[in-house]
Amino acid sequence: MVSYNIREFFLEFNEPFSIAHGTRTGTDIIILELKHDDLVAYGEASLPPYLAENKASVTSFINQFFSTFSWSPLLSECLHQLHNSMPGNYAAKACIDIAFHNLFALKAGVPLWKMLGLSDHPLPPCTYTIGMGTPEIIRKKVMAADGFSILKVKLGGGNDKEIIEAIRSVSSLPLCVDVNQGWKNVQEAKEMIDWLSDKNVLFVEQPLPKTEIEGQKYLFQHSALPVIADEFVQIPEDVQKVRGLFHGINIKLMKCGGLAPALKMAALAKEMGLLLLIGSMTETSCGIRAAAQLSVLANWVDLDGPLLTKNNPFPPVTYRSGVLLP
Ligand code: MG
Repeated sequence: MVSYNIREFFLEFNEPFSIAHGTRTGTDIIILELKHDDLVAYGEASLPPYLAENKASVTSFINQFFSTFSWSPLLSECLHQLHNSMPGNYAAKACIDIAFHNLFALKAGVPLWKMLGLSDHPLPPCTYTIGMGTPEIIRKKVMAADGFSILKVKLGGGNDKEIIEAIRSVSSLPLCVDVNQGWKNVQEAKEMIDWLSDKNVLFVEQPLPKTEIEGQKYLFQHSALPVIADEFVQIPEDVQKVRGLFHGINIKLMKCGGLAPALKMAALAKEMGLLLLIGSMTETSCGIRAAAQLSVLANWVDLDGPLLTKNNPFPPVTYRSGVLLP
């Protein structure tokens, strides 16, 4: 018999965080506590306000799922029931998927990455995210990234060149750029990418609105930097659509429904020769640690969320020399 508890939580940022969607002080989280025999495992759903799911929908999904769930000693059977249940509800599915994976790793007495047949080395570097702000605030944030070997910055807020120049006035570290669909048209995107191309930028993530297919096709052919899909690609079925449009994808457990679909996406990306970034929403170390199990598959991981929040309720994750340990 499996039993569970659902807890609502508000994960607070160290300081209000701005991206192209607006400014927020934190993120609603649902924490799932799953019990079987004497073992307790956790999962989480992170619910940023710009997505459709919320605390009520996730709670309702979890209750509905477990009302018909039949326990199996095989993880694959538990996951099959989950991922073939109601459509959509990807954050809710990620919450249960993570808890199932953690529970079965506890049962097996091995680290989750090992249970998944993965390795804990060599691990790619983890990015350190810098939000939008005045040049002075940005310089301060860059200085705080001590130990990290890659910076990530959010652009698309109207003062992009000022932000990049502020960063470059204090650091020459490689930089990842996330536009969150914030550049309005392909001309602006092409011009900005050309400008960024001699500034030690590794890639540009989701420069255009996800519906701008023609513009994206042009960028794919003419961009001086690799272009990574984030908002454009959500679930395994989306990965094929990336061909001819993007050079890589950003996989997030909350977008796709957890580790099982994320592994499928990573395998497809590898088959297609795509670059791979593992990212996250604002999550506690429960969700971040789950995503970190896939690190070895990625070119970069963007999992610095726990450094940017102040009331993480789980044991902290460890960053060593700019690498997140799984
Ligand atoms: Mg992104």
